[in-house]
Parts: sequence; C-alpha cells; structure tokens
Amino acid sequence: MKKRKWLLQLFVLMFSLVVLSACGATSENVSSDTSPSNGATNSDEKQEVNLYTSRHYDTDQELYDQFTEETGIAVNVIQGSEDELIERLNREGEATEADLFITADAGRLYRAKEAGVLQPVDSDVLNKNVPENLRDKDNEWFGLTMRARVIVYDKDRVDPSELSTYEELTEPKWKDRVLIRSSSSIYNQSLLASLIEINGEEAAKSWAEGIVENMAREPEGGDRDQAKGIAAGEGDVAIMNTYYVGGMLNSAEKEEVSVAEKLGIFFPNQDTSGTHVNVSGIGLTKYSKNKDNAIQFMEFLTSEKAQGQFASANYEYPVNPNVEPSELLQSWGDFKKQDINLSILGENNAQALMLFNEVGWK
Ligand code: FE
Repeated sequence: MKKRKWLLQLFVLMFSLVVLSACGATSENVSSDTSPSNGATNSDEKQEVNLYTSRHYDTDQELYDQFTEETGIAVNVIQGSEDELIERLNREGEATEADLFITADAGRLYRAKEAGVLQPVDSDVLNKNVPENLRDKDNEWFGLTMRARVIVYDKDRVDPSELSTYEELTEPKWKDRVLIRSSSSIYNQSLLASLIEINGEEAAKSWAEGIVENMAREPEGGDRDQAKGIAAGEGDVAIMNTYYVGGMLNSAEKEEVSVAEKLGIFFPNQDTSGTHVNVSGIGLTKYSKNKDNAIQFMEFLTSEKAQGQFASANYEYPVNPNVEPSELLQSWGDFKKQDINLSILGENNAQALMLFNEVGWK
C-alpha cells in the first residue's frame, strides 16, 4: 500500500514535469510568433517593422535609418514590382511578415484594398498630415507623395498659349501630334477615371476617342518614351507625369537631360476642373504583426520633417500641406488640382478600362 502511494506520487511528479516543460516550449513559441503583434511588447523584444515597397530610392534608406535612430524600431525593406507585391500579400495571407505596403497610383492602392490585404488606420496624426482627398475613404491607404499628369510640349514647335485643357487636345489642330502611352498604364486609367467623375461617362469616352484620333503614333513605351518621341519629332505634345521630367533633367544619361531641356511643362485645366493628380501611398497590411510600430512609421513618413526628403527623392510633391515642394518643382509654378477624392480613381477603374477598349486605345 505504501509502495503503491509512493509510485503514484512519482508518477504525478513525472507527469507534471512533462507538462511543465511542454508549457515552457509552447509559451516560448507563442512569444516568438506573436510578440510583435501589437507592438506593445516587453522591452527586450526586438522592435521592427516590415515594409513591402515598389520604391527604390537610396535617400529613402536615410529616412528609414533616421526613424530607427529616433524610435529604436528597425525597418526591414522588401522591394518588388507593384502588382507582384499585391499578389504576394494575397498569397501569404495571415502568414505574411509585411506590416506595410507602399505603391504608386491610387488605382493600384484601391486594388490592394479590394484584394483585402489592407486594414483601416485611425490616426489623428495621419488625418492631419494627409489631406482628406489624398487618402482612402475608409483610411485603408494614405497618400505619401503627389504627382501631376501634365501636358509637356516641344518649346520650339508649340507656344504654351496654344494649350489649355486635356479636352482641347482632341481638337483637329492636334491631329497626329499627341504622344501618350498605352491604356494598360494605370496612370492613363486613373486619368480617364478622373474625367469620368468630372465630365461624365459620355464626355470621357469622347475624350478618349478624340485622343486616339490625334495620336502621333500607336502607344508605345513609358512616359519617358513620350518625351523622347517629342525630341525625335514624332509628336509635339505628350501627356506624362511630372516626376519623369524631374528625373530626366537630373539623369546620368546625357541624352535624357537634353530631351528634358527641350520640353515645357503645362498644367492643364487651370480655368476648369484642375490638373489631374495622383499619389504614391502606404497602407497597413491586414495581418500586420507590428501594428503600433507600423502606424508610427506611417506618421513619420507623412510628418513635416520627412515629407520634403521623401517627396523629392522622386521629384514629387509632398502631400503634407505644411511642406514646400523642392525648388525645381516650385520653378514649374503653383497649379490648381482636380478636386476629387482619389478613391474615385479606383472606383471608376473598371469603367475606364471598358471605355479605352470601346474606343480602341491600345
Ligand atoms: Fe512611374
């Protein structure tokens, strides 16, 4: 009897030891898997934030380092192409390491939102730093830098007094003179999406039809190639994003510099609806495991001290209204912007694609 009790006690002791060590292992796993989940973790835990981005500028790293210095939060960067990264976020689902996603164009940010890979952020700082029309209606993404889609023209062959609006480029006098890339470009899709919003579907369709009619050649290449087309005499005006002009003026390639020097920049629709603007933006991923750190990073990137450098890395305009654009951009002058919420560019994207298709814009 005594012996049996002793055996039982031994068994209980051994069992508890096994359970205890199992618990130890589990709690260790749990802590390494989820510790950064809300950012509020014990202080010896390594603080970090993981960023998926389609940006690729050296000066960005300096800003990230500055953020790390100020907060102790490491910034891990994974670069990729825009659509590739959305695909990756989708595929990784809950297992993703990414806390943040940065990409160009509100149309594409909308795609990420629709794919369900982002989540809303409620931050007074972000709401103050980013004007309402430059962020998602549900705060699932926030603009970081702004660009305008303008008319550039050959300074020898075109007098800027001949230019006025996007719509005016459909007049017969511009026949065979207009250069613009294909409708597969999200930039053009977003431009047409804005015209659908402002002028209505029918007028937007006639505009697209008129531009096709006046194209100097079948759409080919990117925005820079339209500028090169002007320099080569293939056309006289092109529709392109402002930052490409900045990039070409400061290019290491002499040819790009001399092309850009031939160009004038014209901000269309100043007496009507304003020039089309778009953003690069940032969103918090749906399955972020370092949420507090991520929001802190978003607030940092939109802050007055970061915006100037972040925007000028790609010759873009700051979104923060308290920050001046770079000197080069200021030299192009102030301009009136389309007054629409950029979420609309995403909402009207499918309709824009349909119209492009209907009018045969390749
Ligand atoms: Fe671009």
